[in-house]
Amino acid sequence: MLLLNPGPVTLTERVRKSLLQPDLCHREPEFFDLQDEARARLTAVYGLDPAEWTPVLMTGSGTAAVESMTAGLVPEGGRLLIVENGVYGERISQIAKQYRIDHDVIHFEWMQAPELAQIVAKLDAAGERPYTNVAIIHHETTTGRLNDLTGISRVCRERGIDLLVDGVSSFAAEAIDFNDSAIVAVAATANKCVHGVPGVSFVLVRKAALAKAFARTYYLDIARLAKLQAERNTPFTPSVQAYYALVEALRELDDAGGWKKRHAHYGALAEQARAGLAALGIDSVLPPGESSVVLRAYKLPAGVDYPRLHDWLKADGFVIYAGQGGLSKELFRISTMGNLTAADIDRLLASFARLVK
Ligand SMILES: *Cc1c(COP(=O)(O)O)cnc(C)c1O
Repeated sequence: MLLLNPGPVTLTERVRKSLLQPDLCHREPEFFDLQDEARARLTAVYGLDPAEWTPVLMTGSGTAAVESMTAGLVPEGGRLLIVENGVYGERISQIAKQYRIDHDVIHFEWMQAPELAQIVAKLDAAGERPYTNVAIIHHETTTGRLNDLTGISRVCRERGIDLLVDGVSSFAAEAIDFNDSAIVAVAATANKCVHGVPGVSFVLVRKAALAKAFARTYYLDIARLAKLQAERNTPFTPSVQAYYALVEALRELDDAGGWKKRHAHYGALAEQARAGLAALGIDSVLPPGESSVVLRAYKLPAGVDYPRLHDWLKADGFVIYAGQGGLSKELFRISTMGNLTAADIDRLLASFARLVK
């Protein structure tokens, strides 16, 4: 079975076999060697300076990393503006609400790009209590839209606002400008574009932002996790086997030429799928220029509902993904993350062709 859902991904044999290494106690040096390698390799994916950036690992799915970032990096007495244009932006708003962080939301429809002028107007209307942070999704997996961070980070930089980025479905496959001083944290996970297994997620955070962190959560306290991990320590029992897979996946990414090569590979597969489906009369929802290379959303073919499409493809060995919420009646999604080849996409297109012929 090939997974075309946006994580967990189809693994390589190399990563799958890495799970079968010796049992480890997380208080022994062997585990801290593994943790150190994961931290060093995560910092190296985008060539970050370890003097400025700290990788913070945690046991949990991508949401754990987003929650740790949001709950920890808005300073005490700070104020957060959340940019929503899909399910994952809305999730950050729910997290902010849960932790009673002083926050506001700027909402855009799921199919829309965030509009910079509206964000600027909102920031500048803050009055007596200026925003300290803005949070945004880089790749909104709801629709496959790659949000353009450049304008938003510029207006944040001009106002001294720290930008928190959910890069859960873009890290290791899309360009992220870590030199941009407004970007202070990027949350991501092992089991999407990194090609590890679920169970470990992480935040890359600027040390300057960590120094302002405020502990609103116990388990996901980003400052404590960062401090202990830098000392070859850990507060709790990590998912050791998921760390094995993360490290092996990061070695494999490096051996394969890094994130730019992965970006090119995903992009070729995404374009192959888009062109092949278009030839069958199945259109993508967003123009390729506004989409990530990681996932594309498509309109359901005429007369075929999602359950039928899903089950047809599954019988041929492919798991696709429904649209979220109300979109499940209109569209379906195909992710090209994971261990996939052009031949796999050819077989997928052949399965579609038999369905719609
Ligand atoms: C997958 C994803 C998450 C996290 O989802 P989990 O199920 O917790 O791994 C967060 N943000 C985005 C943009 C995602 O694609």
